[in-house]
Amino acid sequence: MSATSLFGDTVDAFKNLGHFAAATVSPRLRLGVTGLSRSGKTVFTTALVHHLLSAVAMPVFRASAEGRIRKARLDDQPDDTVPRFPFEEHMAALAEPERRWPESTRRIAELRVSIDYERASGWIKGPATLALDIVDYPGEWLLDLALLDKSFAEWSRETVTASRRPERAEIAAPWHAALKALDPAAVAPESAIAELATAFTGYLSALRAGPEAVATTPPGRFLMPGDLAGSPALTFAPLDLPPGFTSPPRSLAGQMERRYEAYKAQVVRPFFREHFARLDRQIVLVDVLASLDAGPAALAELEKALDQVLIAFRAGRNTILSSLFSPRIDKVLFAATKADHLHRADHQRLEAILKLLVERAIRRTQGAGAMVGTVAMAAIRATREATIRESGEQLAAIVGMPAAGEEVDGQIFDGETEAAIFPGELPDAPELVFSGGVAPGALRFPRFRPPRRAMDHGGRLSPLPHIRLDRALEFLLGDRLT
Ligand code: GDP
Repeated sequence: MSATSLFGDTVDAFKNLGHFAAATVSPRLRLGVTGLSRSGKTVFTTALVHHLLSAVAMPVFRASAEGRIRKARLDDQPDDTVPRFPFEEHMAALAEPERRWPESTRRIAELRVSIDYERASGWIKGPATLALDIVDYPGEWLLDLALLDKSFAEWSRETVTASRRPERAEIAAPWHAALKALDPAAVAPESAIAELATAFTGYLSALRAGPEAVATTPPGRFLMPGDLAGSPALTFAPLDLPPGFTSPPRSLAGQMERRYEAYKAQVVRPFFREHFARLDRQIVLVDVLASLDAGPAALAELEKALDQVLIAFRAGRNTILSSLFSPRIDKVLFAATKADHLHRADHQRLEAILKLLVERAIRRTQGAGAMVGTVAMAAIRATREATIRESGEQLAAIVGMPAAGEEVDGQIFDGETEAAIFPGELPDAPELVFSGGVAPGALRFPRFRPPRRAMDHGGRLSPLPHIRLDRALEFLLGDRLT
């Protein structure tokens, strides 16, 4: 046998081994989709799955642009105890005749998409399959990480002190009144404990509805309870404890402390250990436009939320939390959603603002522990662009169908009429957002109805339009489909 044929046999053996390996070990990727309430998680996850299944080429998503994605299909998810993401229901909501946005994320949900693709390079050529597990969960739950190394007394002190800030006085008044009526050292009936927990939850909801817009005050499950809605696990609240206070065992403070510790042990820890720590990649959706429009207090809260999220990604790498869980996320994409509310000229500016916010958060929290990317995108584009004339001036506008009841410049829409709207402009220099570069309320930011889908020549519905969703997919999945 000549040296060349020996070499040829070896290569063939290798190739066969490669095919065998590719056929038997199907690689997996767990992608987390998170963000605070109404940041766009449901819409993003639905659009992502829709584009993978529809197999229409997306220019910046290379595996798709190069025609190497042969087929993607929904498969059985690996975790039987996690609810399935209701993709079909959400697609039906987006379609005629309803053409409405799907129900938002309120709890964790999962969906597996198996992607059959052709390898582009490397030793092992030929067909392969990537099992993509998408896990959609409320970003509010990440805020709970901050509770794990805090005692009940510390958490109480921080939360009560923050609620005494003058701008929160009105919002906090009903809860403060309920707090004052109870003695932490005395025994309290269950009804009083429940009332206090309800008053505290009311305070958290009012914070979110108020000028700060996003509430970063934990516990995250009080606003996003998931399956725990109405359960006793959420019946506790912080107390106004004097310095050095120790809780008598059967007192109100003792009860609250026990429930607080149970919440950490039975709700927070399992989420981080069983779900968060198993993610490989993460997209964090951020409604930057809503925060800019709501004013400086909302922007400050958004910055705090970004810090908390980054701390969660770093946790376990060099903190005391490493004994609990150690995340393996190697890439995190921060995405400013709903970019279709702006004209194209402003997409880059929106991305620059998000990048600045993320960089500031990374500096404050000393690194993300993963590769970080930023993008401004619209998972589903509900508008198109146009130029309008106002007082002899040409303005870059967007055209869409505002939802029923939306108001722009005094006009109230019926949900059936299209309108050209000048959304306002973002500053050229992103730093200006911290010094009044976007006046509160200066952006025209109505809720648009989802778009009508066009028919192609063969009578098939064209895929849902988007802005830069392909860039997000390339960052998150591209290297796993080569
Ligand atoms: P979730 O709470 O994070 O799951 O948020 P959703 O995905 O339900 O989004 C909340 C709302 O934001 C939707 O009902 C839409 O009104 C709006 N929205 C989300 N994504 C987009 C988008 O890409 N374009 C537009 N125009 N609106 C969006």
